[in-house]
Amino acid sequence: MTKIIDGKLIAQNLRDDLKKEISQLKEKHNKVPGLAVVQVGNVAASSVYVKAKTKSALEVGISIIDHHLEDKTTQEELISLIHKLNNQENVNGILVQLPLPNHMNEQTILDSIDPSKDADGFHPLNVGKLSISSKNDDNLLIPCTPYGCLIMLKGLNIDLKGKHAIVIGRSNIVGKPMAQLLLKESCTVTIAHSKTVNLPELCNEADILVAAVGRPEIVRGNWIKNGAIIIDVGINRIQKEINGEIKNKLVGDVSFSECEKKASAITPVPGGVGPMTISCLLRNTTIAFKNSIK
Ligand code: NAD
Repeated sequence: MTKIIDGKLIAQNLRDDLKKEISQLKEKHNKVPGLAVVQVGNVAASSVYVKAKTKSALEVGISIIDHHLEDKTTQEELISLIHKLNNQENVNGILVQLPLPNHMNEQTILDSIDPSKDADGFHPLNVGKLSISSKNDDNLLIPCTPYGCLIMLKGLNIDLKGKHAIVIGRSNIVGKPMAQLLLKESCTVTIAHSKTVNLPELCNEADILVAAVGRPEIVRGNWIKNGAIIIDVGINRIQKEINGEIKNKLVGDVSFSECEKKASAITPVPGGVGPMTISCLLRNTTIAFKNSIK
């Protein structure tokens, strides 16, 4: 029977573990991890994400240093705030909510974060460390969404060594770090992208398929090898006719109804990868805190 991977439950378990660990750290060091959350402007989706991240952080005992800046803030002003946070002792993690306004260069902003406080794991130094690190290096700051996917895969208690994994998507925040993580687990990794030819045939050879494309239900049932493990990162809002009414619906990059029949395990959307991302952000903040007191 196909296992439906419950991201909400796994993410909750991770937060429960972090809460215990942070409470022990507080007892020992008389301080808790601090996460600076920087939002520029009022993009509605960003406000929702910032609220969710703040709430989860506070629940596990991480303190929040909140900076909500106006849309017209200049790049220099934002960098100057980041430099201040880089030097602030009670800040262990810095999160700059993306997207930033058009007049800012996102990479320049991300590069200005002290790599040891890089809660998202996007700084070039951390990206480089991930690519050269050994398997058991557990104090790395790793991009949250792919790390969440890896935790879900490991939770299946299967031997990942030698498995053929295909990652569809090569973005800096999901596809590329996901491929690095799978490589670290000794999978044989194929990275597919918008210019890949014969995508269905490539998918058909994969024991593990991670879809991070941003195209609703692009991965079809007949692409999947029998017994494959499917991790669906995509979050796509579509309109679908349900009982004669047009309704908004959230779907992944994988046709769940078709692939569920052939997969051995699959993540749903919503309730799969999504909840893992925030928990992994809290994990990174806690790792940065522990690294700072070593
Ligand atoms: P992106 O747009 O930066 O990258 C998409 C990738 O898909 C690109 O590398 C592109 O080459 C590839 N691609 C596009 N069309 C393709 C096609 N027809 N065939 C094969 N490859 C194709 O997107 P992203 O930021 O990596 O996000 C991907 C998806 O994951 C989006 O739906 C996004 O909303 C979702 N996402 C979810 C979470 C989460 O927490 N669950 C986090 C980040 C992103």
